[in-house]
Formats: sequence, structure tokens, C-alpha cells
Amino acid sequence: MPTRMRAVVKRGTSVTVSQVPVPRPAHGEVLIGVELAGVCRTDIYAAKGLLPCADPLILGHEFAGVVVALGPEVHRFSPGDRVAVMPVIPCGLCRRCAADEPECCPHHDFLGVGRHGAFAEYVAVPANVVHPLPDHLSFREGAYAEPVCAAMAVRKTAIHPRERGLVYGDNRIAELTKRVLHSAGFDIVDTYAEDSATPLETDAYDYVIETRPTGPAFDEMIRAVRPGGRIILKSRPAAPVPIGLRAVLRKELVLESASYAPFAEALAFLAKHDVTDLLGDTYALEDFTDAFTADGAGEERKTFLSCRPR
Ligand SMILES: [Zn+2]
Ligand SMILES: [Zn+2]
Repeated sequence: MPTRMRAVVKRGTSVTVSQVPVPRPAHGEVLIGVELAGVCRTDIYAAKGLLPCADPLILGHEFAGVVVALGPEVHRFSPGDRVAVMPVIPCGLCRRCAADEPECCPHHDFLGVGRHGAFAEYVAVPANVVHPLPDHLSFREGAYAEPVCAAMAVRKTAIHPRERGLVYGDNRIAELTKRVLHSAGFDIVDTYAEDSATPLETDAYDYVIETRPTGPAFDEMIRAVRPGGRIILKSRPAAPVPIGLRAVLRKELVLESASYAPFAEALAFLAKHDVTDLLGDTYALEDFTDAFTADGAGEERKTFLSCRPR
């Protein structure tokens, strides 16, 4: 077992690939050799200093890999197990945790934000957020489970398959959200590109799901949803977003948010649905800047970093 590893480390305002110590799995933790890690808006916000985060910090939270060592009192896994990891580290003490909804724990810590993440050869995480990766799922698909988990959260809201819905945006998150809805019998769902030449109909939708929250986008969503309809919030913008509350009240709209579905449901979705067309290029860890640029630019396909220990 090596003692040093490569990792994408943020120190103050600089983000570099550095040699750092391989973490040791603490009590209840699993040490994972990271195979692939996905790049996400959250990583880019953290890298740019737009999110409060730990310092120094290894970035990255969407990943899959292989168990290499176990901390004390971990019996559920063995070295060599292929796994995917939910980056939400629950507090274990609150009402959501007691209700077996750890993915919705409001007091959670988050990999790659509050504690060291997965843009590294190895990462140590609590065993209770580690999930076996089914044999027929690739590491890429496993690393994509967290975005699927976030998209699937919309199914927890009060929207109904017979209603007419709109996913506002034409990025990969909008496409994934639409597929997740289709898989649950929601067939009357449009997507809308913000730069579309055709304006949205007014009062046309029972619900609208946002995928990129900005003030102008909210103006449009509020206009497009019918009076009494709902707007589903699912993004985590780095900064506050202005919303025209006067218009919300005039139409008596419902604003409803949804963070995550259970992680196991995301793996089950991936086992049944092919999403490979939403998955893009893989970059070497050393080329993380290119990967961040590629991911932020088009947002059509998920970008990955290859982190496999050398
Ligand atoms: Zn993410
Ligand atoms: Zn909790």
C-alpha cells in the first residue's frame, strides 16, 4: 500500500494536482481506490471559491472504485469489492436520519466540500455511504449515480403522471430528469432550451422543474406554469437567486424542493436504463482544468477524471 497519492487539492485560491498522504480509514470507514470521478457544478463552484468549504480540500464527490482497506468495526465490505458512494455524509442524529432518509439529512457533511473528496487515488469514507456496485454496471455508471439520485428526487414531490410538465433547460440534467420521469410513467413532459426562438406558452404547465436557476429563468417559469401550479426546485446555486415573489403570489404557485432519492434507487435505475449517451469524455487527473472547462461549457455530457492508483 503506497503512503502518498495524487489528488486535486484546493488551497486558498489555488487548485493543483499535489502529492498528499494516502488517508487511513478511521473507525467505521472504508478506504476506496477511486477508479473514476465525475465533474459537477458543485466541484467547479468549490474550485472557484464560490462555496464555503474546508481548506485545504481534495475536491470531487461523484465516484466509483474498489475497496482497498477497512477501518476498525467495518464488516460489510471486503477488499476488492466494487462500490459507488453517496457523497452526503449524514449526521446520524436528526429526524431525517432516524426516519431512514440519510440522503436528506439537513446537517450532512459533503465529500469534496466539507471533507476530502474523490479527485484522488484514494478516499476514506464512512461505510454507511458505500454501496455495492452491481457487476453489470461500469465504474462510469457508478460514478454517475449521484446525479441520477438528485434527478430522481423530483419523483418525491407532489407532481402527478397525468399532469403536463416542463423541465426548464436543455442540459444533460434536464434530459436525465425527463428520463427519470418517463420511467415513472410521466409521459407529458417537455424540455425547454433557454435560447429557444419559440417562447413558452403562458399558464400552460401544471408543474415546471428548474435545472439552472437564474432570475430570468424564474421569470419565465413563473409565467409558463398555470395558476396554482408548482415549481420544483432541485439545483444548488452557489449564490442567492432573485425570485419574483409578487408573481408567485398572484398565481398562488407552490414552490417545492427535492434534494435526493435514496442512493440504492439510483443504482437500480442505472441497472435498468442506458444513460451512456449522457456520459462524456474521461480526462487524466492532471488535466482536471480541461475537464472542468469541458464540463462547465456544454453541460451536455458528464465529464470524468480517471483517478486509478498507479
Ligand atoms: Zn454532483
Ligand atoms: Zn441527520
